[in-house]
Amino acid sequence: MDTITIHDSTFRIFLQPGEIHDAVERIARQLNNDLHDKDVIFLVILNGSFLFAADLLRNYHNSCRISFVKISSYEGITNEGRIKELIGINEILEDKTVVIVEDIVDTGNTLDCVINQIKEKHPAELKIVTLLLKPEAYEYPHKIDYIGFRIPNRFVVGYGLDYDGFGRNMTGIYSLVE
Ligand code: 5GP
Ligand code: MG
Repeated sequence: MDTITIHDSTFRIFLQPGEIHDAVERIARQLNNDLHDKDVIFLVILNGSFLFAADLLRNYHNSCRISFVKISSYEGITNEGRIKELIGINEILEDKTVVIVEDIVDTGNTLDCVINQIKEKHPAELKIVTLLLKPEAYEYPHKIDYIGFRIPNRFVVGYGLDYDGFGRNMTGIYSLVE
């Protein structure tokens, strides 16, 4: 399927399942090499990362913990401005290597919130994995340690990513036809 329609929008194939598979294996190899001697906990940021995390972590062969967290859709207002709350972290992260698994980093606002809330729990170190990064949109200095693809500033769906809740089950990644 080269194009799909969701509601009234058309999306064209952008990354084939095979290309995604190769990138996922490449990142898994890097993680296997880099983290084998560490006390690792993967924090998978739901919902969009569910397929990526499943494929990535079945190729990670060292001992690790895996946990799933979610950003609340509710935005609280604090002194620092708008923050979204990270829900579901029940693990002790102190002195562990925490690896955040993200589907996509766009402006980086979400990632920044996640990082700040994880840092409060005093991990030994923090690594960041994202399948997709939009470099033109990214506004933060946080180093992203493992990147599947750098993509143009266009809206994409599939392989976990949704448009209004639809499209997550597509095995390829599709970009919006403007
Ligand atoms: P950020 O906070 O980095 O601007 O955006 C992160 C969140 O926005 C992602 O976790 C994702 O939910 C959503 N997002 C950003 N770009 C896209 C995109 O191209 N497609 C989809 N489906 N979601 C996106
Ligand atoms: Mg996400």
